[in-house]
Amino acid sequence: MTEGPIPLTPILLTPGPLTTAPEVRGAMMRDWGSRDPAFIALTTELRERLLDVAKAGAGYAAVPLQGSGTFIVEAAIATLLTPADRLLVLCNGAYGERMVTIARRMGRAVEALRWPEDRPVEAAQVAEVLRDVPDITHVALVHCETTTGILNPVEDVAAICAAAGRPLILDAMSSFGALPLDLSRTPVCAVLASSNKCLEGVPGIGFAVAERAALERVAGNSPSVSLDLHAQWQGFEGDGQWRFTPPVQVVAALVEALRRLEAEGGPEARQRRYAGNLATLLAAMRRMGFELYLDEAVQAPIIATFRQPPGFDFRRFYDALAERGFLIYPGKLTGAETFRIGVIGALVPRDFTRLLAAIEEVVAVRA
Ligand SMILES: *Cc1c(COP(=O)(O)O)cnc(C)c1O
Repeated sequence: MTEGPIPLTPILLTPGPLTTAPEVRGAMMRDWGSRDPAFIALTTELRERLLDVAKAGAGYAAVPLQGSGTFIVEAAIATLLTPADRLLVLCNGAYGERMVTIARRMGRAVEALRWPEDRPVEAAQVAEVLRDVPDITHVALVHCETTTGILNPVEDVAAICAAAGRPLILDAMSSFGALPLDLSRTPVCAVLASSNKCLEGVPGIGFAVAERAALERVAGNSPSVSLDLHAQWQGFEGDGQWRFTPPVQVVAALVEALRRLEAEGGPEARQRRYAGNLATLLAAMRRMGFELYLDEAVQAPIIATFRQPPGFDFRRFYDALAERGFLIYPGKLTGAETFRIGVIGALVPRDFTRLLAAIEEVVAVRA
């Protein structure tokens, strides 16, 4: 056992909700009138900062939506496509599959192009399918597939979709704010992400950074009142306000988190910090005999998947680490027994040194 009391706030080694800075949690300690000018100004700052993170110019608008990340994915697919359209989802994990499920449930024609969970999406194959299947109107890609932590080649896929005249919908949920994305050079129709991953805010908001020209064409498409990206956008453009009750404290926390992202040096600096976390984690885990599931060349500095060694008892491992104040994450793979450790959140390599000391202790007890 470690000395001393269990920390009040556990360290979350998860893909979100994740460990937040005390200043971000502190920003929630007041009330806001949702129609008061001070809160409207906060919402305006939020929307402008989201555009800045993606280097999005005047052709884009940021559209926040109440709910978790899946809510914005559902709103985007329901709004950007009509029943006459057809979506091609590039799948190498659970979040790609979720987009297929969402499109079906929303009554949108959809097909999947699949790769194994340990292989990145291949842009050349996408180009071929777009050439051969003319009735595909839209493409969807997951930037970092959180199922494994694999990085997909967003720039290549975006260039191919643009050349083929198909708008790209990008689920950047677990990468936005850390893996640099430059919308001034990468043609994406809509980027989707949420408050509680690499932006290091608290959960409660999903958002789209979407092309204004695309938003203008999709009025009335969504069969849902609340999950309607166009109506939500029009609300903000009209009077600067949220259509329905905003999660005011979550907005305040997210604006504080975005100011901190800028102070840190933007996504490039954040990616470097996360890469340092990952390097510390991988070196020590290898030393202890844990095998990384992915080839390191395709591993994003977001979340690492490890194979469970023979006879490994995940529940006991989890509980022993939780007792020491560290919460890790179960695996999500169909084909292999794994567990995951996230490297994102308000964490630095020193936190991983402490985690790894705890893992060493737990493994020693087991052996
Ligand atoms: C977290 C995540 C989502 C959304 O999940 P929610 O639980 O609804 O917030 C979607 N796609 C990816 C890639 C994710 O990592």
